[in-house]
Amino acid sequence: MDKKTYYRSIPKVDLLMEYDEIRSLEKKCGREYILESVRKVTEELREFINNSECQEDINKKIKNLVPDIVGEVKSYTEYNLKKVVNGTGTILHTNLGRALISDEAADRIKQLVTGYSNLEYNLKDGIRGSRYSHFEKIITKITGAEAAMAVNNNAAAVLLILSALCKGKEVIVSRGELVEIGGSFRVPEVMEQSGCILKEVGTTNKTHLYDYDNAINENTAALLKVHTSNYKIVGFSESVSVDELTELGLKHNLPVIEDIGSGVLVDLSKYGLTYEPTVQASVNSGADIVCFSGDKLLGGPQAGIIVGKKELIEKIKKHPLTRALRIDKFTSCALESVFLDYMDEEKAVSSIPVLKLINRNKDELLNTANLLHDRLIKTLRNKCEVLIEDCQSQIGGGSLPLERIESISLSFKPFNITTSSLENKLRHLETPIVGRVVNDRFIIDLRTVLQGEEEIISEAFKCIFEEER
Ligand SMILES: *Cc1c(COP(=O)(O)O)cnc(C)c1O
Repeated sequence: MDKKTYYRSIPKVDLLMEYDEIRSLEKKCGREYILESVRKVTEELREFINNSECQEDINKKIKNLVPDIVGEVKSYTEYNLKKVVNGTGTILHTNLGRALISDEAADRIKQLVTGYSNLEYNLKDGIRGSRYSHFEKIITKITGAEAAMAVNNNAAAVLLILSALCKGKEVIVSRGELVEIGGSFRVPEVMEQSGCILKEVGTTNKTHLYDYDNAINENTAALLKVHTSNYKIVGFSESVSVDELTELGLKHNLPVIEDIGSGVLVDLSKYGLTYEPTVQASVNSGADIVCFSGDKLLGGPQAGIIVGKKELIEKIKKHPLTRALRIDKFTSCALESVFLDYMDEEKAVSSIPVLKLINRNKDELLNTANLLHDRLIKTLRNKCEVLIEDCQSQIGGGSLPLERIESISLSFKPFNITTSSLENKLRHLETPIVGRVVNDRFIIDLRTVLQGEEEIISEAFKCIFEEER
């Protein structure tokens, strides 16, 4: 067919605006935005006709004109950030929002942010207060530190600490601890940004106390220890403990700063995991400043929490960067909530979602698996194999990289579509389900499937496989 005939088959903009499907969009968005989309999509269609030689493709594109316009408008009238079901088994999944906060904390946030609060108001004296005051006392109680504050995330905490305490001076770090976390946080680069001078000592696998000792000079500002959260050096390796470092720091009157990454407040070895250095242990060893993430193993909101000696924390609080990196009321509220839970370890383990998910046992997961399996088996008959299998969950978020927790999964192998097509369909649902593809099977690890989400999963498979008929 002649291209002109194709162009003529495209309805005029005025006419398109009268289509029911398009008029009904006016409930959600101003007419001018719809008009813009109609023009944009029809213009794209013209270009497509101009560039394509395939009649079939062109006809298909013309037929899709109205749905394409509706899709374009919906791309800015509907929520893009939405709930997903995490079937990966990775508890701290950085791409899926890292730590979950409890219902209780979420309810508190709702109450506080839909009205006014004493965020920076000292109710006792009727004067300006501090946004850190709501949780400072609790954190110091739990960790044994003298003072505390929080900023946007742990990367910001490291940047701020070094800027406030070490600018223009040398900071000594072991070569084994110059880590990269999550692709964008690199210890050497953060140090450079803060304006301090990186003085690296030792080797990748071994650093001794005398390496630090030999590097100390009149321009040294601090000794820095960084937890190598996301990798482990095994075999012929040695590092200097915080205890030894603080002893050396004391001798030379230098502060010891420790970035412990994940803010563990309970001894995880009690719950079957590998021991991770706790904040309390670090403070107890005499570290002058300790910082950690709020949304890793701590199980709170995204934040970088800084605890330590009062004099140093005061100095950090006064630094101009603190204002730029400050936490908002959502975070202050969620931090207060999570730290309150930690005042009682039993309460912490039973109410903080991250710890609850770590502690889920296989029997509980097997129950869920059986329940879902029974629900799905009829829908999937002759269309998709579904098995209950053992699997292993990860902590994620760059914490405990070698740790695997025994878990239970549902494993799917569709007959008439490919596994990757199933994965793709599940990802495009109203509530997307994200899992893993292993050996050409789609795996849902039930450890990270939350209460009530079984229903979403069974509906999703119904929707996908019943339309297949
Ligand atoms: C995760 C981590 C960071 C970065 O923390 P964010 O809260 O993600 O900014 C910094 N240092 C260490 C050692 C970490 O493990």
